[in-house]
Amino acid sequence: MPVQPDHATLPAADVLLERTTMLADEAATAAFGERFARALEAVRSERRIGEYAFKGLQVQLIGDLGAGKTTLVRATLRALGHTGRVRSPTYTLVEPYTVELPDTGSRAEPNGNAGRELAVYHFDLYRFNDPAEWADAGFREYFDSGAICLVEWPQRAGALLGVPDLVFSLDVEGDGRRLTARAYSEPGKACLERC
Ligand code: ADP
Ligand code: MG
Repeated sequence: MPVQPDHATLPAADVLLERTTMLADEAATAAFGERFARALEAVRSERRIGEYAFKGLQVQLIGDLGAGKTTLVRATLRALGHTGRVRSPTYTLVEPYTVELPDTGSRAEPNGNAGRELAVYHFDLYRFNDPAEWADAGFREYFDSGAICLVEWPQRAGALLGVPDLVFSLDVEGDGRRLTARAYSEPGKACLERC
């Protein structure tokens, strides 16, 4: 299967919500990561007791080297309570995390996504070049597991990833970064509305 060009985009018609934010410096990126983390917690707790269960979220991060993708993932993980290191998964392709969410008081867990623990997988597919690796490494299961999957260089996996819930595109602008966020699903939209 051919690898997609780096700037291949999803059809504009599929965008449910689009927001653009200027991130003037790294502190602004950290603040966005914090808002995103709070949004994830809120959407996850609502969906698990709402009309349909939270089924995880796929978030694609698009931008050149140095655009700030890893910085945003790191800020999000920190705001979700992860205190250890956040390594760029450049060589490992994926780094797994487990974070503990605030207690929402809900006991209903219709999707078996038990308790307050939430799995977060941080992918960097920059060096990904063989779809067979996808199957061999069991990556599909990561995306079907109710986890948050944050994916740098999603273009390298082409159609293997399917349609994401959210896409964050980062572009250098002046000394800062322009973040264009697009939601492609209702949970993605619910998240973005809170950012
Ligand atoms: P990527 O993962 O996209 O290759 P990194 O997050 O590893 O990029 O590196 C981004 C670089 O840009 C870091 O040096 C970081 O300090 C800096 N940076 C991140 N966000 C901003 C911002 N909003 N404005 C200016 N510099 C930023
Ligand atoms: Mg990176």
